[in-house]
Amino acid sequence: MSREPLLEVTNLVKTFGGFRALDGVTFTLHKGEIMGLVGPNGSGKTTCINVISGLYKPDSGNLRFLGKTIAGQAPHKMARLGINRTFQVPKPFRELTVAENILVVHATNKHTEIGDPLEFVGLKNVAHRKAGSLTSGQQKLLDLARALASGPSLLLIDELAAGLSPSELDDVAEKLLTLATRGISLLVVEHLLGFVNQLTQRVIVMNAGKEIFEGDLASAAKDERVVEVYLGR
Ligand code: ADP
Repeated sequence: MSREPLLEVTNLVKTFGGFRALDGVTFTLHKGEIMGLVGPNGSGKTTCINVISGLYKPDSGNLRFLGKTIAGQAPHKMARLGINRTFQVPKPFRELTVAENILVVHATNKHTEIGDPLEFVGLKNVAHRKAGSLTSGQQKLLDLARALASGPSLLLIDELAAGLSPSELDDVAEKLLTLATRGISLLVVEHLLGFVNQLTQRVIVMNAGKEIFEGDLASAAKDERVVEVYLGR
């Protein structure tokens, strides 16, 4: 794996009416790397993705992508640069078919070579169906296909595992690993630590908007502060 930095997050702060949802988050993600972003509910994981994907502007701090400062740019600009994301609760165009949901994505970066995104996520056989008729697991896969259709080099994944069956989970973990071998970097926000463990050992654990641990998952499980926030002791 190349050690070239792809995303450099420095001292990111995001407040909502005085409440610090992100309180100085700093990390670097390299090309083709998968990093898990874990922590209890409300610790700031989704906010982190929302800021990196351009949905929210940070109050302060910096975001560099391939060496260029990108903080505060709009989501479509981030997508054009090669940053895309999935949503915890996908919202496809329900009245459009699965295939049409992909067609409406403006593919600007064609450098990922994953081929047909629907084929890749295993939804080719339901391409003609209305997106609203899919199971919640299939809607998550469609959301992943949509994010892939723009040809990202950085994919921000928000809680993909919830709602997927164990076999769908194994399958999707394998697909995400394939993406990383093709040079796509992944930041994976996830509640299910078993799923993270299938993808990577490298994790950041957040609590109350701050990173409380960065390192491998096995060590995180033995870290006193991490155990404390997870078990609430
Ligand atoms: P996590 O993803 O770790 O569960 P979030 O990033 O969703 O945590 O939320 C972190 C904190 O920020 C929570 O207390 C949440 O209520 C608050 N928060 C997130 N988004 C908003 C928003 N748009 N407006 C107000 N508060 C928000």
